[in-house]
Amino acid sequence: MCRSYTYLEDDGKGGLKPAGKLTEELIVRPTSETIIGASFSKWVNSYRDLPLLINQWANVVRWEMRTRLFLRTTEFLWQEGHTAHASKEEAIEEANRMLNVYTDFAENYLAIPVVKGEKTESEKFPGAVTTYTFEAMMQDKKALQAGTSHFLGLNFAKASNIKFQNKDGKEEYAWTTSWGVTTRLIGALIMAHSDDDGLVLPPRIAPSHIALVPIYRNDEEHDRVMTFINEFTSKLKRIRYNEEKIRFQIDNRDMRGGEKLWDWIKKGVPLRLEIGPRDIDNNSVFMGRRDKEARDKISMDVDDFLNDLTNILDEIQQNIFDKAFSFRKENTIEIDNKDDFYKFFTPKNKNNPEIHGGFAKSHWCGSSECEEKIKDDLKVTIRCIPSDETEENGKCIYCGKKSKKRVIFAKAY
Ligand SMILES: [Zn+2]
Repeated sequence: MCRSYTYLEDDGKGGLKPAGKLTEELIVRPTSETIIGASFSKWVNSYRDLPLLINQWANVVRWEMRTRLFLRTTEFLWQEGHTAHASKEEAIEEANRMLNVYTDFAENYLAIPVVKGEKTESEKFPGAVTTYTFEAMMQDKKALQAGTSHFLGLNFAKASNIKFQNKDGKEEYAWTTSWGVTTRLIGALIMAHSDDDGLVLPPRIAPSHIALVPIYRNDEEHDRVMTFINEFTSKLKRIRYNEEKIRFQIDNRDMRGGEKLWDWIKKGVPLRLEIGPRDIDNNSVFMGRRDKEARDKISMDVDDFLNDLTNILDEIQQNIFDKAFSFRKENTIEIDNKDDFYKFFTPKNKNNPEIHGGFAKSHWCGSSECEEKIKDDLKVTIRCIPSDETEENGKCIYCGKKSKKRVIFAKAY
């Protein structure tokens, strides 16, 4: 949802005035709900107009005191969807369907394992009946809310007068949903997979699957290598991976081979192929993979490589996911004792660097007070009530009252 904050200060007369001039002029429109709500109220008249789905890509401006690249920026690009339905069940189904579309993309394309669940009353989107969320663990063990989908009940329909005539000719309010993800997902991708050598890109979303680096010492070798590469890439072009053409780049820059290779490592390209006179003599390519050590390279017969390429890319995609999954697993623990819980989330102090802990799966009684106390003490919030968590009897980690389910506590961006 677009909540556009304006930076205001006391004007000394009991009112507010802009705190200063912006360095760059911004033209701001109101939050999307006002536009979508007003339009939906005109478009929806009969049950025949439902369901209605509108999706838009838009840039959003939010006032942020502290910005953080990709995660919290004053201006960002997002996709926002809005729907209206004749029945409650259909609207809930839609909100869940979109959550699944997002989590499928996060896990199967971005290779980021996520936890699906519902937000608590105090963490949900204002006006929503239910906010569904998916949360990912970054490499500093902090949680990142990667996207949300909201079941809005009749709240927004009542505010915007979105009514329809049902099959019996009676007027009813429509049930609405909204959902969105933003360029924050790029931040999630970078933070979930990068290592000391730079970016690591899962093959399914990598702009290039392969970087081809010709190795030569003189013009004669250059011509020979390029002839071989052209023949090789004509075969590459016929291969499809994940229903798309293989994407490759031939690095012809006037730089040393080693420098070029490091450049591609830093950019996270899944496969690097070095091709020089010796490789041509053996009808082979020298392959480096971004999911392995930079030095860990092997020579492969050209035909074997071409036959195996889609499997290799699938394997890299899986390895990147598995690494993130193991990391999350190692840093997710069940905690049933308040002292242990507080130790796990030790705030930064003189003797300790900040330890974010990880994900704590603990019992919670459902009260906002316990949630608030924990937030005040530790800056730890309930990221979600996981949808796949089975019910069990336990005691609230803060107050000790009865609880039926574990929730996920973590520090978050
Ligand atoms: Zn409690």
